[in-house]
Order: sequence, then C-alpha cells, then structure tokens
Amino acid sequence: MEPAETGIVFNIQRFSLHDGPGIRTTIFLKGCNVRCVWCHNPESFVKEPQLSVNMNKCISCGACARACPFQVHTITEEGEHQIHWENCRACGECALFCPCGILSIIGKEYTSEELIRIAARDAAYYKSGGGVTFSGGEPTCQPGFLLSLLMRAKDERLHVCLDTNGLYAPSLLAKFDPYVDAYLLDYKISDAGSHRKYVGVPFGQIERTLRTIDDMGGIICLRCPIIPGINDTDAHFDSIRRLRALYPAIKEIELMPYHWAGVSKWENIGLRYMLNDTQAPDSGTIEDWNRKLGLQNETIFKRG
Ligand code: SF4
Ligand code: SF4
Repeated sequence: MEPAETGIVFNIQRFSLHDGPGIRTTIFLKGCNVRCVWCHNPESFVKEPQLSVNMNKCISCGACARACPFQVHTITEEGEHQIHWENCRACGECALFCPCGILSIIGKEYTSEELIRIAARDAAYYKSGGGVTFSGGEPTCQPGFLLSLLMRAKDERLHVCLDTNGLYAPSLLAKFDPYVDAYLLDYKISDAGSHRKYVGVPFGQIERTLRTIDDMGGIICLRCPIIPGINDTDAHFDSIRRLRALYPAIKEIELMPYHWAGVSKWENIGLRYMLNDTQAPDSGTIEDWNRKLGLQNETIFKRG
C-alpha cells in the first residue's frame, strides 16, 4: 500500500479529552465499513462529502429548490420540504442560498500535510501525555491516507492513537502498526447473531485483530459501547473480562454508555434512527456495569 496525500475528513476536534491519554487533537476520517444502529456519527458512514439539512429549523422558503441544479429539494403545495437525497451531488450550491443557514456539506478534502500541521500547532498541550488520534467512521477505510497521516505524525514526534473497530483483515494493521502508540479498539457485541443484526457485519474478525495487536506488542484500550437491550448482558460482560484476561495488550477498558447525542444527525442526512425507544442508562446503572468489570481509573501507557 502506498501513502495517499489527500483524503476526506468530517471533523477536527482540538483539546479532546476522550480519545486517548492527555489532551489530544482528534481527526475524524469519513467512511465506515459497519453500520452500528446506535452510531452517534452517522455522517461518517459514506466516504464522500454529503449534504446535511437541519429540518427542524426549515421555514420552507424554497430558496434551496430554486438554487439546486439537480432537483433535490421540493416544496409541496402544503409547504412540506421534501428532499430527494439520491439525486444530490454535494455541490453545496443550495447551502449558499438558505436564509436559515441550515444546509451544509459534511466532509472536506485535506492533504495529510495540512492536517498534521493543524495538529502540531497544539504540541505544547500534548506535554500532558497527549497527541493526535485518528478516528472516524473507520479510519482504515481510507488506508493510503491514514498511512500518510501516521507517517507524518511520527515525523513530528506526536503520540499517536488509532481509534478502530478492528473489523477487517488483521494483516492491514501491520502497515500501520509501526506508527501507532496505542489502539482504541471497539468491542461491540459478543453474540454472533446480535452482532450481525445491530452492527451489520459478521462478528468473526475482532478477536483475530486483538491477537494480532497483542502479537505485535501493541497497547489497547478496549472501548465497549453498552446499549440497553442489546448488549447489557452478563454474558457480554463475561466476554469482556475473558478478553482482558487473555490478551495482555489490553491495558484499559472503557465503557461507553448509550447516549442520545447525535440522534438528530441521522434525520439530517436522510437516515432513519432505529433506537428511539432506547433509554440512556442512569448513573447507578453505569456504576453497576463498571463494578461488574472491576474497572478503576486506568491509563494507557505509552509504548516503548
Ligand atoms: S448540494 Fe448541490 S446537488 Fe445537493 S441539494 Fe444542494 S445544490 Fe442540489
Ligand atoms: S432554503 Fe433553507 S429554510 Fe428555505 S426551504 Fe431550503 S432548507 Fe428550508
């Protein structure tokens, strides 16, 4: 695989405290190989830039319909704003004319050089043990671009975390590993049938990925989204404990309790959210989950 100089990014988050140790810059690459029904970044699913519309604030003025060359927007006689998403080419023309500023294009092309320059600006803050995190979506869906970013980050001597779902051929990781200090690895669902149903792909790959990182001497924070009614089961907690006992690479486990942030993003890009009836857990429930796993305040250690 050759490094690719350009790629599509949908967010750059400075001063992040939640994506690895210390203060970090998190760079979110567009594109994902799975479809978790609880995802709070659904705008990452497709690799290409795309239109987002905050319909709750639309006044049905029709300016977008007049501006769009591809008949994506229609205002019906009843004043309903209909969107024909499949026709959109993400040219951004309609966004220029919306008086409410509720249209936007998500995803922008950057060079790896530009992004690492942005990340390196905050190097003073990284003395906290921080650095740069590459996330998504699934960052390995732009493999050449990710490789280029990783190489440049290491040239700048930045501490690097790779936030990944591990649901791909483990051999891919060997290309990235020389430039990665720690992995934030998702562990979503341990039941094979539920995994296919709620994540959209077979379960099989994740343990092979774990073993590969372990064999390479990597460091892992295992990130476990816990979704009530889907994976908040004793069997799943047992499985997390089993993995921790089996793979010394796992230095930390982070539970990620279900929350509602990001739900409106689904509608904004024309997708239907499936978990409207799921309740976010209260603090007592979260404490109980942590207790089941025996979690304390843990930190990821830098490699080497
Ligand atoms: S982004 Fe371009 S193609 Fe898509 S709706 Fe707006 S004007 Fe039409
Ligand atoms: S221009 Fe903006 S406010 Fe007017 S119909 Fe389009 S999205 Fe709604």
